[in-house]
Amino acid sequence: MSTPEQAQTFLVRLGGEVTTKSRRVRQRFQQKLVRNLLDALCSHHVPFRQVENQWSRLLVRGDASAGELLQRTFGVQSFSPITGHAPLDPEAIVRTGQEIYGPLVQGRSYAVRAHRSGPVPLSAQRINEQLGAALNPGATVNLDHPDLTVHVLMTPQGAMFYHEVIPGPGGLPVGVQGKAVALISGGFDSAVAAWHVLRRGVELHYVFFNLAGAAYQRMVVAVAKVLADLWSYGYGPKLHVVDFQPVVQALRTKVSAKYVQVVLKRLMYRAGSLVARELDAQAIVTGEALGQVSSQTLKNLAAIEPAAEVVVLRPLIGLDKDDIIRQSQRIGTYALSAKIQEYCALVPEKPVTAAREEAAAREEAKVPPEIVPPLVQQRQVLDLRKLDVSQLVVESIYIDHIPPGAVVIDCRSDYQYEAWHYPGAQLIPLEELIDNFKHLDRSRTYVLYCPFGLQSATVAEKMQQAGYEAYSFRGGTSALRSWAQRHRVEEDLPVEPDPRD
Ligand code: ATP
Ligand code: MG
Repeated sequence: MSTPEQAQTFLVRLGGEVTTKSRRVRQRFQQKLVRNLLDALCSHHVPFRQVENQWSRLLVRGDASAGELLQRTFGVQSFSPITGHAPLDPEAIVRTGQEIYGPLVQGRSYAVRAHRSGPVPLSAQRINEQLGAALNPGATVNLDHPDLTVHVLMTPQGAMFYHEVIPGPGGLPVGVQGKAVALISGGFDSAVAAWHVLRRGVELHYVFFNLAGAAYQRMVVAVAKVLADLWSYGYGPKLHVVDFQPVVQALRTKVSAKYVQVVLKRLMYRAGSLVARELDAQAIVTGEALGQVSSQTLKNLAAIEPAAEVVVLRPLIGLDKDDIIRQSQRIGTYALSAKIQEYCALVPEKPVTAAREEAAAREEAKVPPEIVPPLVQQRQVLDLRKLDVSQLVVESIYIDHIPPGAVVIDCRSDYQYEAWHYPGAQLIPLEELIDNFKHLDRSRTYVLYCPFGLQSATVAEKMQQAGYEAYSFRGGTSALRSWAQRHRVEEDLPVEPDPRD
């Protein structure tokens, strides 16, 4: 077994979809995979890095940590850590095989499987028999269900030994299948959708429409960064942040409430198409799954689709939510996406579920058409791989204590407030606070809290921008509750007078 910092070679197998391509296409795909693997090894500072292209396989050299990268590089079907080498000579092969595997097969059952690749003047069957016999003392041969299979790969350059075959992520090397932009909201779906398209070899860039301020944006950046850092070797993914708050404002005032969602999506498709065109990308990718939420009925998708000016890819269309969430765990976006779930404040009470395209277009026409292009033009572009997430955290929005004299505002719903609230806290639900905080006394300090501290961070930020000293309690209700217990805040303090009065 090797430990990090010890050289380790891996035999990498390519997927059937790569090996069955024409020679020219296969060459292109394989060269791309080599470049992507080198990028993976370099960006994670793996020592001894080298990738050798042997046509029917790749040999990747690094240390033990390179195995983790192989599990995240698309185009890798499976891989095996090489446990030893021997010259192409039956005696040397048997001797080396015995040295490596003699101790490992003790008390277990085993099989030897020799393979030839290229012109090799040795019989695989004879190696099976000779090495099989040499390993026999203290172990039993079982060709059908062995505890351990010793593989001997004989090539013109020599023989290699391995016993593990570890699955890779499969798919195609990123970059062989053109370019697309993924509309990413940070929720479970859009991140998983992006992953599926990356897996098919598409170079992806991301577009995020910010509907709720910088705190939300930081969370989305963190989600996109997981995809960029762990699953996108070979290029530099960018996140395009479009400020959509003016659009939301226009929708709220001009569009019939039940059409707000549909029109918002149409405008997202339009803006996403503008970015795609500019990047010379062929498609936009979304996380929509049929019927998952009321806005994703077939009729609604049909009413939204015509707003796109490039192909719309929806890789999750037939998946169940449970599957999507399971996949997000494997991808590494689960925990971040789970925190973002509560950002759906915009959804009206009863959105339309059977939108008609003409009605959607009519509602959309109420929004001035010149509103979107400048927002796209003024977008912020972040280089995800180069970005340091710790720089994104603006400490001043969050607070870990309640300063003396602060006004504590509970931004949750009545029933949550009834169940528990910070002693003396005032109940001002989020939507009400967003619209009305300007009536609050500017001389006071405010600490806001909500279930996770995220939505309240968005409002605290807005309040700070308007000149208030306002914070969000870091970690939300549960963190505040334990803080209150630790500091023995009395449960029966009188409620402070409402500063709006
Ligand atoms: P997700 O889990 O990805 O947030 P969702 O189930 O919440 O999706 P919707 O809110 O209806 O579904 O969004 C559908 C798709 O539209 C998303 O998967 C995403 O591709 C895109 N989308 C939604 N909101 C945004 C946003 N703020 N910025 C960019 N894309 C968005
Ligand atoms: Mg969402």
